[in-house]
Amino acid sequence: MRSSWADSVVNSAAENVAAGSSASNGVVTAAKPTRGAYIPPHLRNLTPSSEPPAPAYSGPSSANDRSGYGGNRWGGPRNDFNQTGYSSGGRTGGWNNRSGGWDRGREREVNPFGDDVDTEKVFSEQENTGINFDAYEDIPVETSGDNVPPPVNTFAEIDLGEALNQNIKRCKYVKPTPVQRHAIPISLAGRDLMACAQTGSGKTAAFCFPIISGIMKGQASQRPPRGARTVYPLALILSPTRELSCQIHDEAKKFSYQTGVKVVVAYGGAPISQQLRDLERGVDILVATPGRLVDLLERARVSLQMIRYLALDEADRMLDMGFEPQIRKIVEQMDMPPQGVRQTMLFSATFPKEIQRLASDFLSNYVFLAVGRVGSSTDLIVQRVEFVHDTDKRSHLMDLLHAQRANGVHGKQYLTLVFVETKKGADSLEHWLCMNGFPATTIHGDRTQQVSLM
Ligand code: AMP
Repeated sequence: MRSSWADSVVNSAAENVAAGSSASNGVVTAAKPTRGAYIPPHLRNLTPSSEPPAPAYSGPSSANDRSGYGGNRWGGPRNDFNQTGYSSGGRTGGWNNRSGGWDRGREREVNPFGDDVDTEKVFSEQENTGINFDAYEDIPVETSGDNVPPPVNTFAEIDLGEALNQNIKRCKYVKPTPVQRHAIPISLAGRDLMACAQTGSGKTAAFCFPIISGIMKGQASQRPPRGARTVYPLALILSPTRELSCQIHDEAKKFSYQTGVKVVVAYGGAPISQQLRDLERGVDILVATPGRLVDLLERARVSLQMIRYLALDEADRMLDMGFEPQIRKIVEQMDMPPQGVRQTMLFSATFPKEIQRLASDFLSNYVFLAVGRVGSSTDLIVQRVEFVHDTDKRSHLMDLLHAQRANGVHGKQYLTLVFVETKKGADSLEHWLCMNGFPATTIHGDRTQQVSLM
């Protein structure tokens, strides 16, 4: 919608606005408010109107009808995912002289050699996500398939291993989300899984926990063959984009902290040399985009013959992006163990025909799990549309920033996202905000990926 003040400001009343989120086509300016006594005259005595929008999810349809998912409920239009707001050689030495992970070949426990110190820092900074997980209680969940393992209500009910349990605590995950409640026991039971779940449902942990736990409990028979510079990951997580891959990598690294399980990410659009070096340091779980992985396979730098776990995240989006040939090449034409030998988890927001075909080609005697569209942030955010003349936009913005600060509780520093129309407009607004004492930065296509938000 082109609103009267053209560009939109997303104001966070809680932690719902994540600085660092990217807008696919838009431009984002993020600003932190600072002290100031500015009172813009044109908005004094303005009474805001507020009317929360209706929830996005319209309720359950008939259960256990797989074919039905292709149409109304899970199938939906392929641009459904717009609503999810996408906005992340051989080792030598005493502790592991093979490629991939320390101590592969016996039960793993805490890595005595420690882990990436950055991960500790991430944990110490970890806050609750701001997602209202209580709202998940009402989410309809449906499962179908043979002998579906029963869901769990707490993490304590599942045997994930001590080191992983510690990390769940460090992540401040108190209870499993619906998709985790169902998907984790299904995967731990060794079953293949087709899950329809949205971004924000906790699906990353749903496929990472069983993989990490399974690798930690790995048996001696899983010794990888030695190859000069080839690495042999035990698990592969395919995702459509660099951003999502990095996000999964970051999460998986937290979950595998001090488990000895090594996670590496490989994606296109970035120099391959650093990724090769990371792989050479050892890899148990490889998170990759399809194109870059095909490249690594063709260079014989990665072999898939030891893969025990295959997870495809946002599979519908990968197909929409035209990755089906690469995905089929990776899964069917290279050296990956066939379905039934490996364990496969297919995650998709929708379940159209193409995904159903992929599921029947890649999965073996699988359990189908569908988690309703999560009430999502729209329930928690008040939206307000205001008419503002072009010439007043900046002072209006400043008014909002000051008001936000004044309304803040416990001295909490709120973050603000401002969407504008052009890159130039973003740069100009950033400059103006900084000049006026609001630290700000921009995200747009002319900026390098290395830029971090202030
Ligand atoms: P995802 O759908 O995997 O992108 O997860 C969405 C967000 O929820 C991420 O920030 C996760 O860290 C967080 N999250 C996932 N599972 C839980 C949980 N059980 N409790 C609290 N937060 C969670």
